[in-house]
Amino acid sequence: MEAKVRLYVDQPLGQGQAVALSGDQAHYLFAVMRLGKGAAVSLFNGRDGEWRAEVAEAGKRGGVLVCDGQTKALLMPPDLWLMFAPIKKARTDFIVEKAVEMGVRRILPVQTRHTNSERIRQDRLQAHAVEAAEQCGGTYVPDVADLVHLDRLLAAWPDGRRILWCDESLVGVSEGLAGAERGPWAILIGPEGGFSEAEKAKLRGMPAVLPVSLGPRILRADTAAVAALALWQAGLGDWT
Ligand code: SAH
Repeated sequence: MEAKVRLYVDQPLGQGQAVALSGDQAHYLFAVMRLGKGAAVSLFNGRDGEWRAEVAEAGKRGGVLVCDGQTKALLMPPDLWLMFAPIKKARTDFIVEKAVEMGVRRILPVQTRHTNSERIRQDRLQAHAVEAAEQCGGTYVPDVADLVHLDRLLAAWPDGRRILWCDESLVGVSEGLAGAERGPWAILIGPEGGFSEAEKAKLRGMPAVLPVSLGPRILRADTAAVAALALWQAGLGDWT
């Protein structure tokens, strides 16, 4: 029987491995999706690839699945981070969802001078990343970091990781990814209000930074995130 449901679990997966379900997971599988004993479920945990599992016990508040074969090996996305200044809730959710679909290792909401929101619900965004991975067939779930100040992040910037800085003032000047090499990268998308002069000066002075234009139109941050991910994936990522 083919699995109709794909579920993320935070437990080891392997041949014959039993997986105990939480109350919420049991409710979803047995009450919402109406699966019974013997039904097949597709499981992944972000580490061990994807496994087919069968329902061994189905209860109201719990249950047990048993893995009976690997259906996909772990596919790690390229070593790309997405840094963005959080915007309104629905658009921030969209950015997290699209980043997971497009393939990133980490998602870092950053607070900039003109960031629209001062707080994020990290747990909610992480749950969103899990849902997006369940839906898009991914076997890896990027970690969503807590909100961090851009200044602090840049001050301790790791050696060897380059930054693709999406800067709307570069229309006609930017050479795109010409000359850029594969390796660890991070994409940086600013808030609706753009970057401050001090932030721009700091970024311009960093050798790790490659400023890039996303065309002659001003994109909303959520559109810019998807466009930048496509640009990077096509040129330096796993599309080619
Ligand atoms: N403050 C700007 C708009 C910011 S748009 C203004 O009102 O003019 C939000 C973010 O999306 C920007 O900080 C930038 O990172 C990215 N972005 C939007 N359009 C872009 C473009 N054409 N090229 C590069 N980056 C862009």
